[in-house]
Amino acid sequence: MGYRISLLEIVRGDDATLNPHFRKDVDVWSLADEWGPEKVIQVYDPHTRMQGVLVIDNTAMGPGKGGIRFQPKITPQEIFLLARTMTWKCALAGLPFGGAKGGIKGNPLEVDRVAWVRAFAKAIKPYVPLQYIGATDMGTTEMDMAVFAHEIGDMKACTGKPTELGGIPHELGTTGYGVAIATDLSIKILNKLNLLNIEPKDARIAIQGFGNVGSFTAKFLDEMGYKVVAISDASACICDPNGLDVPKIMDELRLLRTKMKAPMLNDLKTAQKEPKEKIFEKKVDIFVPAATSYTINEQTVHNLISSKIKMVVEAANIPTTKDAENTLRQNGTWIIPDFLVNAGGLIGSYVEYIGGTEMQAFELIKYKITTNVKRVLIESVHSNCSPRSVAEEIAKRRVKKAMLLREGAIDVAREAYAREELEEYTWRGDEL
Ligand code: NAD
Repeated sequence: MGYRISLLEIVRGDDATLNPHFRKDVDVWSLADEWGPEKVIQVYDPHTRMQGVLVIDNTAMGPGKGGIRFQPKITPQEIFLLARTMTWKCALAGLPFGGAKGGIKGNPLEVDRVAWVRAFAKAIKPYVPLQYIGATDMGTTEMDMAVFAHEIGDMKACTGKPTELGGIPHELGTTGYGVAIATDLSIKILNKLNLLNIEPKDARIAIQGFGNVGSFTAKFLDEMGYKVVAISDASACICDPNGLDVPKIMDELRLLRTKMKAPMLNDLKTAQKEPKEKIFEKKVDIFVPAATSYTINEQTVHNLISSKIKMVVEAANIPTTKDAENTLRQNGTWIIPDFLVNAGGLIGSYVEYIGGTEMQAFELIKYKITTNVKRVLIESVHSNCSPRSVAEEIAKRRVKKAMLLREGAIDVAREAYAREELEEYTWRGDEL
């Protein structure tokens, strides 16, 4: 292991924008290991002053797939950590993609975003789409993807494009759909094995974060007959021990959206609001973090334990710090890991990439998430390892195999040249 600090620790415990412990002094190359990164490309456009970074972590399984973040604070390290998460997420989902991530450093609302996205696309064009395929991420929209694909001159340059360009819109809730499937199946499997003891119809669920992922997770769980008793966002928490009326809340927010830019739970007229932190104190069985990273941390984990949470379903990326995860595990809480649970959007992207329909996207998400959750939970129970380590092992084995197969071609060629085939080949050359 050539790197100085544990990569896992950084991936799970640090984030440039969110975690005060992030080590800004860590050089991205000191994080390099046997998996990658293959390329770290920093770009600058003197005309617009756009600064960007592209990290292609590992392309053994296929071109690196990962969204383009457009945020004032991005660093090559952070983009690398996100690219690495994509390597495992794509491999676990069994998609022909490697891991990558892009980043544009700036506030998209304060700069000429069209010019900046064009400049970024132009700068990384030699790698797109053979080594990198973009997507929307924090700060980027379907319109940005239209600009990106236009500048590259290839609709395969990215996913998350507008429907008119063959895109499968984010607004369909593909990630939330996958989270709901994963939650339902985890409850059923662990129940069957007598490891959870919650009747699905009685399970109480809290969802932290009510944006794209959280709201669709709530919608699909509600449609499956689950009781979502508490939700929160950055403005407030609302709770009803008998189950919230999720469709009504979503409708009310949708109506407000026409008048306000980004309506929040605090804007709801009909609900009783509490401070957002209260979500951690609700007596629920399942907690779904669907907000930002590291919200389950040393400060909040004890509330979850006092509330006797039985399962955490990680809808957000890296929502749990390493220490908090250890504490939860010691208390017998199941943690269903992020890169298993929140792959719905990525699987939907793959369907967009191969020109499929929305219906095919939902079918493939259901199939892949179901297969993977079953496999990970059953292996986890048999091996007594955490679902996260089982999922990571599966992903690593797949990437390693792809890496060996790629190297294999070179070995076969070397062997062939070393034997008489080389003489034959040389002789034929002489004849010519
Ligand atoms: P979003 O911006 O649509 O929603 C985020 C929500 O979290 C908002 O409701 C916001 O108010 C809320 N929030 C922010 N800080 C909070 C806090 N401290 N307490 C409670 N709520 C808070 O984002 P999103 O697309 O829903 O993504 C949510 C998470 O899921 C992120 O970690 C993202 O990386 C991850 N993720 C998203 C997708 C996707 O397809 N959108 C796919 C995989 C993973």
